[in-house]
Amino acid sequence: ISEEKSFKYLIIGGGVAAGYAAREFVKQGLKPGELAIISKEAVAPYERPALSKAYLFPEGAVRLPGFNVCVGSGGERLLPEWYVEKGIELILSTEIIKADLDSKILTSAAGMKYSYDILIIATGSRALRLTEFGVHGADAKNIFYLREISDADKLVEEIRAKKKGKVVVVGGGYIGLEVGAAMRINQFDVTIVYREQLFMARLFTREIAAFYEAYYENKGIKLIKGTAAVAFDSGANGEVKAVKLKDGRVLEADIVVAGVGAKPLIELFEGQLDKAKDGIKTDGFFETDDPDVYAVGDVATFPIKLYDDMRRVEHVDHARKSAEQAVKVIKASEENRSIPEYDCLPYFYSRVFNLSWSFYGDNVGNPVLFGDNNPASAKPKFGTAWIKNGKIVGVFLEGGTAEENKAIAQIARVQPPAEKYLDQLRKGDYFFA
Ligand code: FAD
Repeated sequence: ISEEKSFKYLIIGGGVAAGYAAREFVKQGLKPGELAIISKEAVAPYERPALSKAYLFPEGAVRLPGFNVCVGSGGERLLPEWYVEKGIELILSTEIIKADLDSKILTSAAGMKYSYDILIIATGSRALRLTEFGVHGADAKNIFYLREISDADKLVEEIRAKKKGKVVVVGGGYIGLEVGAAMRINQFDVTIVYREQLFMARLFTREIAAFYEAYYENKGIKLIKGTAAVAFDSGANGEVKAVKLKDGRVLEADIVVAGVGAKPLIELFEGQLDKAKDGIKTDGFFETDDPDVYAVGDVATFPIKLYDDMRRVEHVDHARKSAEQAVKVIKASEENRSIPEYDCLPYFYSRVFNLSWSFYGDNVGNPVLFGDNNPASAKPKFGTAWIKNGKIVGVFLEGGTAEENKAIAQIARVQPPAEKYLDQLRKGDYFFA
């Protein structure tokens, strides 16, 4: 006989969005016992971006509770005790395998049932696997993906076991670049293989990519572009030992880390909620077409007012802000108040070695490079402005200070005329907006 528990508010998923939602519920006024968070992971919500950065460092690595939310945005760390104190039930190591939105019941793998008045979907994404691309031998041991803390722990264990060994990183996106850098810091022999002709091809221009590629090569990282891993060989112990590339090359490997994309986790709601693009369709309040169900973070496809477009955004800043918005809406509607629609300014960032970049806005139109992008400079600082219809609609900056990054966010928000302001950027003045 399965047990059942009831909550006024239930969050499925215990990642970034869930943690920020919990904090917002408390800010807005929450009674003990009203809220539960159900998470497949064994730990309280944490700042996921740390997993491909300082979590992997050989010295001074971050560990929980050091990066529980909301420390990543300068807030208080919410430790497991905080949830207890606030009467929020953290239901960990629990995977929901069925969601019946008509009867408002979620069922866990262990057969527990959880009913709700209001549901917030915050299931995030999962890493795509090389097996899904038909890569032969991709089920070998020592091929790693990075999404959850348990993935990072397995990688850390293997970094220790294969000290200064050879790693092949598959993928030239966020994960590939951050893990590639972290493995080099661990003194591994690192090769990054990617299909595209440039790093971070969805965002970087040729000039931006050229800077980071040269920087990586100066650090002793080998780059192989324009080809893909098509097969893996493993030894008698089942561990990967070689990567075969489409162009015929074979690379030795003790460890492979793949960062080949992510997919929003929305299968549980298939046929029950409207979809848009590959996510759950919401309005600017993160309401789905079921009045009692909200979707936030990676899974939501929502209207971006600034660009009059429906988009899904897989980034931490949006996960935090969308969660807060949904909770504000839930509380406001209980009190018959209205709140403004979500007004997202896309923001992406990354940090590797001594580098740190930020991008705000839209990378459409004509990109114009400014600053010193010589990878051999002692302190390179450069950026790119994207110009569309005569306006600056997106700005990228490497090496900016916190104030400068705020200033470029403002530029992307205000969209000033390029003719008048591009020269300011060239002169290193970011504060005109
Ligand atoms: P998540 O944080 O992924 O949380 C989803 C949670 O739901 C997980 O705990 C998962 O276990 C749980 N879950 C899923 N399905 C179920 C189920 N059926 N039952 C129970 N629980 C379930 N973004 C940036 O902007 N900058 C970065 O530098 C950056 N670095 C990143 C590095 C890594 C390694 C990764 C993986 C992501 C990174 N991101 C970065 C992206 C960012 O972390 C995500 O966009 C953000 O975490 C999304 O938040 P979320 O709450 O929607 O999902």
